[in-house]
Amino acid sequence: MQKIPSTPEELLSKLKRSITLDELQEYMQIMFKMRGFVQETAAEDMLLLIEEVGELAKALRKEVGLKVDTQKMGNYSKVSHEIADVLIMLIVLTNRCNINLFDALFEKEQKNAYRSWQAVNPYQKDEECKKC
Ligand SMILES: [Mg+2]
Repeated sequence: MQKIPSTPEELLSKLKRSITLDELQEYMQIMFKMRGFVQETAAEDMLLLIEEVGELAKALRKEVGLKVDTQKMGNYSKVSHEIADVLIMLIVLTNRCNINLFDALFEKEQKNAYRSWQAVNPYQKDEECKKC
């Protein structure tokens, strides 16, 4: 039986490039217990996920050169950090809902693989762009 990490260093040693989705879910479960976030609800996790998505949007605005509030430049994080935060909260929510991420991904991709994607009305899309 493997020892459950009890320090940040022991936990971080579990993060490898070859980590599986199951192992990543287990990592996040241990990480959340260590940081004392076990009492939250799925609704609270969802709010945090949305908050992180907002932070990602803010960081991306700066990264791609959109206008940003110059007086709050210190509030704009790195895109890579915010993507990581979004992934963390997504996996935390997945764990909270007792969903296996690989199974969910595989099941949904079996449906997505046979879907087709195209603009239904390209003319309408062009008109919308002219309004921007
Ligand atoms: Mg963040």
